[in-house]
Amino acid sequence: MAEITRQMLRDYLHDALPDAELAAVEKALRESAKLRALYKDVIEQEDRGEHTVGAIWRRERVSCPTRDQLGGYVLGAGDPELLDYIEFHLKTVGCPFCQANLDDLKKAGKGGKAKK
Ligand SMILES: [Zn+2]
Repeated sequence: MAEITRQMLRDYLHDALPDAELAAVEKALRESAKLRALYKDVIEQEDRGEHTVGAIWRRERVSCPTRDQLGGYVLGAGDPELLDYIEFHLKTVGCPFCQANLDDLKKAGKGGKAKK
């Protein structure tokens, strides 16, 4: 089984894991006292103020796709794993920065292609 990272535990805490990983984390937490201790540590760290909206954005924006990658997503072109990740980032994480970028790209795409 894949190693459960601190980042996964944080995402689990924020309810931001895809279902498959969520199940894996829950199972691992039930089975491993060491992991439960780590999870407690993660929660305490979040409680020290790292769960402010600003802190969450700073963390999650690190994983934002580039505008080019979003462009590929609009066209359904590119690495399928990357497209899956972008879908997760937009729909599950619900990143407003990328949503805005995506809306913008969609508009630009329609307007630009209509002209000859
Ligand atoms: Zn984003």
